[in-house]
Amino acid sequence: MTMGAPRFWRKTQSRYNLYGVKCKSCNATYFPPRKICPSCRRASKLEDVKLTPKGEVLTYTVIRSAPEGFERQTPYIMAIVKLDEGPMVTTQIVDCEPDEVEIGMAVEGVFRKIRESGKDGPIYYGFKFRPARADKDLAV
Ligand SMILES: [Zn+2]
Repeated sequence: MTMGAPRFWRKTQSRYNLYGVKCKSCNATYFPPRKICPSCRRASKLEDVKLTPKGEVLTYTVIRSAPEGFERQTPYIMAIVKLDEGPMVTTQIVDCEPDEVEIGMAVEGVFRKIRESGKDGPIYYGFKFRPARADKDLAV
C-alpha cells in the first residue's frame, strides 16, 4: 500500500480509474477498497490495484422512479457487476434497454456523466457499465 500520497490525489485517481485493493497475503481483490482483508485480518497486506472494468451482470433491477437529479434518465438499470478480477461493483448499465439486460451478460466499463446538479452546477463523472462489444475497443 502506498503511503503518503495526498488524499485528494488518491480520490481523483479513483474517480478516473477503477481502483480496488489486493491482499498480498491471499491474493483476494476488493472493491470498493477496504482497510483490512476479512480473511487475513491482522496479517492483511493490502495494496492499491487498478481493476480492469470488465465483468458480467450478477443481478440487476430496473429503476423507474428516480431520485432527484436522475429523473431524465429513467428508466435505468442498476446492476451488481462481478468483475473478472473478482470484486463486485454496484453500477448503472448504459447503452442498453431495460428489456435487453440479462444475468450473465458481459459488460465493460465506460466513463460517463453521472449527474448534473442544476443548469450551471457541477457535472459528475464516473464509471458506468455497458454491454461488452467485441468489435470495439474499451471506451476507457
Ligand atoms: Zn487476505
